[in-house]
Amino acid sequence: MLATTIDVTVNKTEHSKLAGFSLENLPFGRDFTDHMLEADYEGGEWKNAEIKPYQPLLLSPSLAALHYGQAIFEGIKAYKNAEGDAFIFRPYDNFKRFNISAERMAMPQVPEEIFIEGMKQLVALDKAWIPQIPDHSLYIRPFMFSSDEVIGVRPSENYKFLNILSPTGPYYNAPMRIYVEEQYVRAVPGGIGYAKAAGNYGSSMYATAQAKKKGYDQVLWTDAFEHKYVQEIGTMNVIFIIGDKAITPDLGAGTILAGVTRDSALTLLKEAGFTVEERPLSIDEIIDAYKAGVLYEVFGTGTAATITMIKELRYKDFVMNFDTDKWRTAPTIKKWLTDIREGRREDKYGWMVKV
Ligand SMILES: *Cc1c(COP(=O)(O)O)cnc(C)c1O
Repeated sequence: MLATTIDVTVNKTEHSKLAGFSLENLPFGRDFTDHMLEADYEGGEWKNAEIKPYQPLLLSPSLAALHYGQAIFEGIKAYKNAEGDAFIFRPYDNFKRFNISAERMAMPQVPEEIFIEGMKQLVALDKAWIPQIPDHSLYIRPFMFSSDEVIGVRPSENYKFLNILSPTGPYYNAPMRIYVEEQYVRAVPGGIGYAKAAGNYGSSMYATAQAKKKGYDQVLWTDAFEHKYVQEIGTMNVIFIIGDKAITPDLGAGTILAGVTRDSALTLLKEAGFTVEERPLSIDEIIDAYKAGVLYEVFGTGTAATITMIKELRYKDFVMNFDTDKWRTAPTIKKWLTDIREGRREDKYGWMVKV
């Protein structure tokens, strides 16, 4: 732990880009607000924590992160309620997860002053960028990378932490067609599957591209040894409604990202009366439930899209189709979550942190 408190200095822009800019219907991740947060880890401590105008970085071609991939990130959202107050959804959960990712990647821990307090200050400063429109939000992207300018393979001594903000929404998530992957793997026990590390995404793109060629939107990853137990989809965890149970793969093997939306959805599923089971779930069990007519719903959970329904699941030549128009559970959980975030449903779990 750092003994001293870290102050984040603030240098405001003199030229806001917001005037004349419409916050309606923005695609995910393309536009950024007026300010960003930047901090440096040097000589074993965090310094130069600063909120400043959003701007490019000047980096050396020998920057360690570009060669060896010590890079991690988070994804969080801020919302406005009807009164115009701004709230961030469960940022402390992302803070914890960020430092778990950092530890696994041999990167330094980021202190709360920079991650949480810096985020609150940044969002407060750019509060006018939070769209006050249903299904819209401000996406928050904290990230860290190694910044030694030496191409030797070892953990870097220097790091940069940044946080950038992107207004977004609505995320139109059409029901997806999912291909159950059994050639490529995303994560193995002992690997980095549980870390939100950049390399996990780079390594998944080829398999996803192959699935797209076959007409699928994403792959459902399976375990590396038998391709038997399901893991997760792209940037989403996956939940199966089988009978009166909500079943999702457990986090025990360290091959799955512990999604904050996953945890939120499981909490709300319990509230809705489901028995929630976190345990290994095999593709055979899924197919048997489908054949027996008790696999009612399959959906993905993640910050970007919240809940995404799956209308087709393909394993080898076996295709499972679903009439998502008839579903009750996924739409209800999505509505409850959105209502909590936008202030129309009681925040009984204390998820919303006021800015
Ligand atoms: C970010 C992410 C998720 C979803 O996590 P949330 O905290 O719900 O956004 C799931 N899987 C992977 C691989 C992810 O990167």
